[in-house]
Amino acid sequence: MEIYCDSAATTAIDPEVIEAILPYLTTNFGNPSSSHWAGRKVREMIDNSRNTIARLLGVSSEEIFFVSGATEANNLALSESVREYDLTHAITSKIEHKAVLQPLLKQEKEGNIEISYVKLDKKGNIDLDHLEHLLAANPQSLISLMHANNEIGNITDIEAINKLAEKYNAVFHTDTTQTIGKVKIDLKEFPADFLVGSAHKFHGPKGVGFIYINKKHKLKPFILGGAQEKGQRGGTENVIGIVGLAKALEIAYRDFDRIHKKTAALKQRLISQLENIGIPEISFNGESKSSSKSLSSVVNISFPCLQSGSLVNSLDTFGIAVSGGSACSNLGNGGSHVISAIQHEDNRENVRFSFSKFNTTEEIDRIVSTISKIYEIDNNIVEESIGAQQLFAWAQ
Ligand code: PMP
Repeated sequence: MEIYCDSAATTAIDPEVIEAILPYLTTNFGNPSSSHWAGRKVREMIDNSRNTIARLLGVSSEEIFFVSGATEANNLALSESVREYDLTHAITSKIEHKAVLQPLLKQEKEGNIEISYVKLDKKGNIDLDHLEHLLAANPQSLISLMHANNEIGNITDIEAINKLAEKYNAVFHTDTTQTIGKVKIDLKEFPADFLVGSAHKFHGPKGVGFIYINKKHKLKPFILGGAQEKGQRGGTENVIGIVGLAKALEIAYRDFDRIHKKTAALKQRLISQLENIGIPEISFNGESKSSSKSLSSVVNISFPCLQSGSLVNSLDTFGIAVSGGSACSNLGNGGSHVISAIQHEDNRENVRFSFSKFNTTEEIDRIVSTISKIYEIDNNIVEESIGAQQLFAWAQ
């Protein structure tokens, strides 16, 4: 039986979401820009979906725009706010997702902005005094600091950052890809300038997301060629995706407490069992061991290196999907810029386990017993010089 424990990379679509989008794959196929009955039906559903998201986040529906996902939303917010407001200075951190770092670096390369990186403590928490110091020296900066880190799960105090942004007249963008649907955000209480979401992180479809643009801003479109999304984003809407996104967020809020309790218990079970199976010197990256300072669904663990290869690959051999760093970084050189930027031990394997409402305690127990077996086999390989392939065949 396969086990999926990589929900920070993506999640399985909820069956209720599939049910909600089915009519838009079959009978309701109209183009929402068409003025006839077929278009009107679909337009109405897009409007309803926008209203649902706005209501859940405590904003006005005019402030929600559908896009292809968080990568596009981050690019739009960062590139277009620099252009719109002639911003010349940006503050970010070394542990942001590449969908934030790369658009900012492009702006810097083009000579539009200078980037300052806020200091982080050993566990990857933002040094708010340093942030204030940077803002005092560079008022009217663009701040981009994520709400929760996708690799180590650290949760950032975005309310405190927002207050500093207001004090120094800065524009505040926060990458909320990992927190939408998982950490409640009420924008009535905390009016950030821009935040973003991707449906597939909370059991919706892939390739669809949204950007919240505070109504005090008007950005130029990032994608031209149509009047969709009130001119903010050209191109026929991803109707199925939008319907699925709204439904997925509705379910995430409806079942919020139950899901949070479940993922927190799974995380705690994995931590305590791993600490007891006798693998020497496991440790936890960032704040990921904490139940209050990190996501209930993410834990990033530093393991001693195996002689026989990678732990992530070995777990895959046993049908267990986890990741080393974020799935996005895996597509590159495999190294993690996040782990490199915080306190870490060299020559270790850092593994991210990330849970969803579909994981079970039995799965956690199997992950732990498999890890134990992998280390046992690895010791035998070293002691008895037996081929890895042979031992894995035996273990299965
Ligand atoms: N930001 C963060 C923090 C993420 O975790 C991800 C997805 N790994 C993204 C942005 C990009 O999301 P998407 O690939 O859905 O556009």
